[in-house]
Amino acid sequence: MRKIGFIGLGNMGGPMALNLVSSGLSVIGYDVDEKANLLAKENKIEIAIDIDSLVKDIDVLITMLPASEHVTGVYLEEKLLEKLDKSILVIDCSTIAPEVSIKVASAAKDAGLSMIDAPVSGGVAGAHAGTLTFITGGSVENIKRATPVLEKMGQQVLHAGDNGSGQIAKICNNMLLAIHMCGTAEAIALGVKNGLEPSVISEIMRNSSGNNWSLDKYNPFPGVMPDAPSSNEYKGGFLNKLMLKDLGLAAQLSDASNAETPMGDKARELYEELSGQGLGNLDFSSIQKKYYS
Ligand code: NAD
Repeated sequence: MRKIGFIGLGNMGGPMALNLVSSGLSVIGYDVDEKANLLAKENKIEIAIDIDSLVKDIDVLITMLPASEHVTGVYLEEKLLEKLDKSILVIDCSTIAPEVSIKVASAAKDAGLSMIDAPVSGGVAGAHAGTLTFITGGSVENIKRATPVLEKMGQQVLHAGDNGSGQIAKICNNMLLAIHMCGTAEAIALGVKNGLEPSVISEIMRNSSGNNWSLDKYNPFPGVMPDAPSSNEYKGGFLNKLMLKDLGLAAQLSDASNAETPMGDKARELYEELSGQGLGNLDFSSIQKKYYS
């Protein structure tokens, strides 16, 4: 493999690109934010001056962008697909609307390119540790081509179905994540307001039928898990505004498919409330503030 192009070097893309470099692969990156480029340079990632120079001499292109509009902006409006050599495998790891993913993959196909969607689960900690789960959509052949590269940044590559399916599975997962994070924060606060220590109620539920990922790996109550964002003033991690974006995608998906999602709708309402209070840039476990502060 000659070189991997990596567009979007933010909270997730930065450490993912670094893991590719650490595994011995050659990477050239680009971000519109100069601060992200500087940080990547400090981590020995080569930075392109613009997207046109990034796409020369690469054989895999990865994008890790915030939302649907950024993905359509780069691939379609800036006509990136037209600038790529046909041999390049295109992997979009951003979490975006499935229909946008399908539209971009179809434009890629029309341009003679192979593309998959590969949104991730595992958060910023997983991006740093190289333990992400990739939830992929696309042909079996293209997923197989992508797997050796994805395995340098994660532990699991799961295949949901055709293009766009990775996004559908990722959106279902994040709706469930929001629901159990809200429920976890609510239950801990109920225990604490009735005299229990936050670590005691957390440990009891963690070893009982209430256990879930938020409780086990990402406790929302400050001080219970020293390495969780809750113990660092909810800085970094997975931002409320990104969770709200994903819950909006879940709502669109449920409307379009006539699926009932009352719990997802309630979680969206709670995250809207947090963002409305100017807390959009805190980690999503800060929903704890709604119940106990
Ligand atoms: P981020 O905002 O930290 O990073 C995105 C980066 O893309 C930014 O640095 C931004 O400057 C850059 N960018 C935007 N437009 C660009 C363009 N036109 N060209 C080049 N760069 C551009 O976001 P993140 O937390 O890294 O999340 C990225 C994606 O991963 C999102 O879709 C998010 O939903 C998803 N995700 C995030 C997490 C998490 O814990 N943060 C977990 C799983 C999935």
